[in-house]
Amino acid sequence: MYMIKTHYEKVKRTIEGKADLCVVTKRRTLEEIRSYYDAGERCFGENHVQELKVRAASLPDDIRWQMIGHLQRNKVKDIIPFIDCIQSLDNLKLADVIEKEAAKAGRTINVLCEFHLADEDTEKTGLSKEDAIPFIHEVMKKEHIRVCGIMAMGPHTDDEERIREVFNEGYQLFESLQKEFGKDVIHTLSMGMSNDYQIAVECGSNLVRIGTYLFEE
Ligand SMILES: *Cc1c(COP(=O)(O)O)cnc(C)c1O
Repeated sequence: MYMIKTHYEKVKRTIEGKADLCVVTKRRTLEEIRSYYDAGERCFGENHVQELKVRAASLPDDIRWQMIGHLQRNKVKDIIPFIDCIQSLDNLKLADVIEKEAAKAGRTINVLCEFHLADEDTEKTGLSKEDAIPFIHEVMKKEHIRVCGIMAMGPHTDDEERIREVFNEGYQLFESLQKEFGKDVIHTLSMGMSNDYQIAVECGSNLVRIGTYLFEE
């Protein structure tokens, strides 16, 4: 417990004034999640629809729930009533379904477009940079979707220089999209997890998604 507190304080100090924290809840108990709510956190992320539903139903209403994992079209309607942001939008068919379900529910859903930046990672989810501008133009036509920025993962490596390269690429993409669409539209750059959040913040990330480091010694 003491170490966990130390980790939390370290994360908060590192990101202070630069990035917001999304506490990643996957595989955690409601009590564990609740401890971060009680500490003042309100932005929580999860990558499984079923877990999201259970957590959202059991925890306070003022949590801003983030979908951070691959989202199947037939699961969209399950999260529309309560989700604040879908950080993993990477195809137009998914955007069509989000639009349809959000319209039915009378909600507007925030989204981040997920990009694949690290060529060496074979398990490719996410858009490629080349598609960014036309993709976002299409999504912005949807009345019940609010594009807020982009999300990307670092490469699966311990090589800090390589991680930095990939996050710099993410920041360059973010800046070019701000030029195209305006900073009021493209304001969130979600990059960085337990093992690479410090580098991500140095590279300009303003939203880190952290699980393991916050919950484990
Ligand atoms: C699990 C996960 C995280 C958090 O990873 P940790 O290494 O536990 O900090 C962040 N983003 C996504 C998309 C994830 O699936």
